[in-house]
Amino acid sequence: MHPQIWHQEDVLRKGSFSFLTQRCSVLTLPIENPEHVHSNHSNREQELSVKINASRTNLAASIRISMLQRMDPVHVAELGQRCFRTLRAGHAEFHVSSDHSRMNWLRVGSTTAKPMASSNSTCSHAARVSVFASPGRYVQGAGATEELGRQLKHVGIQGRLLVIAGGTALRQLQEIWRRVLPPEGIDPVIEQFSGECSQAEIDRLSGLGQAERFAAVLAAGGGKAVDTARAVADDLGLPVVVTPTLASTDAPCSALSVIYTADGSFERYRFYGRHPLLVLVDTAVIARSPKRQLVSGIGDALATWFEARTVREACAQNQIGGLPTTTGTALAKLCCEVLLADGPAAVSALEVGAVTPALERLVEANTLLSGLGFESGGLAVAHAVHNGFTELSSTHHCLHGEKVAMGLLTQLVLEGRPHGELKEILAFQKAIGLPISLAEVGVDHNKQDDIHRIASRSVAPGETSHHEPFEVTAAAVADALLAADALGRQWLS
Ligand SMILES: [Zn+2]
Repeated sequence: MHPQIWHQEDVLRKGSFSFLTQRCSVLTLPIENPEHVHSNHSNREQELSVKINASRTNLAASIRISMLQRMDPVHVAELGQRCFRTLRAGHAEFHVSSDHSRMNWLRVGSTTAKPMASSNSTCSHAARVSVFASPGRYVQGAGATEELGRQLKHVGIQGRLLVIAGGTALRQLQEIWRRVLPPEGIDPVIEQFSGECSQAEIDRLSGLGQAERFAAVLAAGGGKAVDTARAVADDLGLPVVVTPTLASTDAPCSALSVIYTADGSFERYRFYGRHPLLVLVDTAVIARSPKRQLVSGIGDALATWFEARTVREACAQNQIGGLPTTTGTALAKLCCEVLLADGPAAVSALEVGAVTPALERLVEANTLLSGLGFESGGLAVAHAVHNGFTELSSTHHCLHGEKVAMGLLTQLVLEGRPHGELKEILAFQKAIGLPISLAEVGVDHNKQDDIHRIASRSVAPGETSHHEPFEVTAAAVADALLAADALGRQWLS
């Protein structure tokens, strides 16, 4: 289930492209004209695309590699999974990136190859390893922004700091940054984020960052501002520090960005080798944020355990290119326990702008536990259905966690979980203000075309819906969507 593709350097050196199948047989696709491979070191991105027509005994492959500075192993591992699914299907054609305009595609050549004989001995050079990753340091508390300078100094950051900030962060934190950072030898250069984590915005801010020398990038704001700043830091080769102003997603602690098109549709995930050096959460700022944002964060975090459980049951890969560790899965479970115990009290506290122990625990669950849990524990159908929802512009007014919540109900129905579990989640989601019906996320259950579009997108190659221990088809997801919606509507009436 978990093929591994050799690194780009290996592809070049060996003149072949190999991956490991479930039965430990190595499929090797020789590249006929390796001299045609050359690199373009001016581009920082790394992408690789493969077209394969395959049968059990014969492979016809066309491999296109965009030669770039570094190959991200996570990305390569993810690609490997796609290849394997493709092979199992017997025939397929796919592209890794829809962002061709930024790429320098280099045709490597077409070739045919036969699978090498199966042998257990070929296993040794492609060990399946468990991986856990996290930010370097996590700081949380009311008024934590006052600590930012000292904490930055603690992780070794001095000099000019490129601050990419959303509107709320600018209004609430700018004055504090200008007061607390200079005494610690840090000079903030503040840029406002435009509102969408799109390639155009990443390019704009990276361009500004290239104009002078920075020690790090500080991401301040909601999920999209943070994801954008993370991409900018990666483009500039700098460490990133994150200070979220919302507890609305589990993005702050992770090493990936969700890139959207300019009109707000999901485009792709972008993975990074490095996690944030520091995540600092000021709960006094979070306590002033809109209730809907915190509730959405609960929706995102609630799915974490159920998706991690699935990934573990399926022995599938987590979001950082390994099998889940016991630690990653356990943190996902703890996340769920904290949400169920503290969710209602924390939301009540936030409604009056109060920082309480329940709110502190909930913010930590939404941000740290869910962040570690989804990345190291893994994702499954809930997030794939979220990505499916983004296909419809009628869902764009909904927040990430609201759509994930509906995705979670869909996943539980699809997995055939006991009714008692579904009832507990339905009751919690309704009580806390999360959607439990399609209408609440802007989808009309009578529109078959829309249901089909969501379901098809959620099973696209590379989607985390394929982390289930059984084959997930668009038809099965469509049925689960409709059945989850029917349950939710019953609950609402
Ligand atoms: Zn999420």
